[in-house]
Amino acid sequence: MFEIKERDAAGRICRFETPHGTIITPTVLPVINPGSMPISPDEMRKMGAQAVITNSYIIYKNFRKTALENGVHELINFSGPIMTDSGSFQIYMYGADISPLEIVEFQREIGSDIGTILDLFSLNATKHKAIDEVNETIERAKASIPLKGEMMLACTVQGGTYPDLRERCAREMGKLEADVHPIGGVVPLMEQQRYRELAEIIIASKKGLPPSRPVHLFGAGHPMVFPMAVALGCDMFDSAAYIKYASDNRMIFSDGTAKLDEMEELPCSCRVCSSHTVKELKEMDEKERVEKLAYHNLYQTFAEMRRIREAIRGGWLWELVEQRAASHPALIDAMEVLKREKKWLERWEPISKKRAFMYAGRYSMHRPAIYRLHNRLLKRFSFSYPRSVIIEEKGKPYSRYYRNLKGRKANFVVNSSLGLIPMELEEMYPVAQSVFPLKIDEEGKRLVRAFNRKFKEKIPGVVDASSVKNEKANFDLQKVMAVADMQFGKGAGKALFNGDIEIVKSKKTGKIRNVYCNGEHVVSMRATDGLFTLKAKGAEILHEFFKAPKLRVVVEDDAVPFIREGKNVFAKFVVDCDKELRPYDEALIVDGKDELIAVGQCRMNREEMLSFESGMAVKTREGIE
Ligand code: ZN
Repeated sequence: MFEIKERDAAGRICRFETPHGTIITPTVLPVINPGSMPISPDEMRKMGAQAVITNSYIIYKNFRKTALENGVHELINFSGPIMTDSGSFQIYMYGADISPLEIVEFQREIGSDIGTILDLFSLNATKHKAIDEVNETIERAKASIPLKGEMMLACTVQGGTYPDLRERCAREMGKLEADVHPIGGVVPLMEQQRYRELAEIIIASKKGLPPSRPVHLFGAGHPMVFPMAVALGCDMFDSAAYIKYASDNRMIFSDGTAKLDEMEELPCSCRVCSSHTVKELKEMDEKERVEKLAYHNLYQTFAEMRRIREAIRGGWLWELVEQRAASHPALIDAMEVLKREKKWLERWEPISKKRAFMYAGRYSMHRPAIYRLHNRLLKRFSFSYPRSVIIEEKGKPYSRYYRNLKGRKANFVVNSSLGLIPMELEEMYPVAQSVFPLKIDEEGKRLVRAFNRKFKEKIPGVVDASSVKNEKANFDLQKVMAVADMQFGKGAGKALFNGDIEIVKSKKTGKIRNVYCNGEHVVSMRATDGLFTLKAKGAEILHEFFKAPKLRVVVEDDAVPFIREGKNVFAKFVVDCDKELRPYDEALIVDGKDELIAVGQCRMNREEMLSFESGMAVKTREGIE
């Protein structure tokens, strides 16, 4: 069982159940060599390891009898989930003395929780060779599935540095009864810091894989790449780096690596760094030093993973990705790939977040939230009056700084860091919930100018503020109409607020709270993100106004009576869904005949709702009888 609990960017926090316990992803599995364990698995657990990974081929070669008799858990003395690697790399290097299917059976027999197929990997291979190897890997996966028994099976995505081949391999692997999908053959890319290609490979693989399968980035052990990989949808990592780097007297940090020989102070407060000096570490005998450095390296690795999970919970994963990108030029190259993939990234991006959009540098303006804002302004926004005035951004909320204009019959468009934004959207995410420096980067400015050029064509009759007469206008009504169009689609505002409108504001903050139409409660506006929650009446209006499949989540008939009572919609009961719906969008829940049965808030997009077997697809707010 694998289900989404929290999300940000295309990243997610999931619960993943294995025979030896539940893992909260994203997480790192430290690589354990059964022949040499400088840090005991028990100690690793205290540091944050939820699961570990070990090499079944090394066990097969050196500990076969014990492992078969007592199982892998006793062999390495770890009672939590154990994943095993099939030893593709060792077999690639030294040749095989075991068949691809025998190694899968061996993993099952020693009691591995998650075994791995014996894949072929091709890096720097010609496309022709890479195709052959992908085909062979897929055949091996197909043949391995019937052998897995109770063990979960990881079916690796290969395809070298060819994104089209990766995507095809992922699609084929996704059709099988696999439980985890490693992205394989990327170690050389890591070692050579080819992060641009790494990003391309992850995205291509994710495009082909069902979103309900955990994705393991095989061999990505340096924490520097974790935030980006998680933001693109990777759930699991393994780290041999902690010990490899330690043996080489190198210390891992979240933003890079340092050589012990070149250090004078330890900028870390782990148990090792807070109780030793650099000098002491240098003077230790080698075995002890490696052990100490390995501890530090693993500590930093898990600390970064905790930070990433906090970033997902808090809605600041993009900020973390951009901060980390600044720590290596090759990661900046990878950001260029993310720029090109905005359209794909936007599908997973939540509608709003707990925290404000914080500008962090030249990639911030490329975030999916801004791409979405600009697209929706161009496609969904309509102006109320034939005349418009463009005003400068003086502060937020905009209208507070233009009290004299607020009551006049004209469109006021604010020239802001986000581009030209109609004043009535002043409280909507991310307009109010964004923080910019006085000057943004040139590339961001160009992006904003390009949007402004297109949006300007839609702004009717631009005039000077002085030529607008002081006729009284209902700015609050204009505001709720505009937000409704941006959130639900063009025309939603007119449909929802057609009649005798009463707008109730908070006595404390003066912000809009509830909107009634002909005495019925239609929507509430959330103080946190300036977006609406739909009430049953509002849902009925939109259901009538928009044709299917717009805003709909269609559920199985069996689930209908429960959802009408207010029970949440679980993914396995979803039959179909509007492909425009995004995580945290408001949804109309309907039965097979498009009858409205409830209203709620999405927790997934369409691909996820159709792919996941467990987890909440829509949080139901009100059932409709
Ligand atoms: Zn340390």
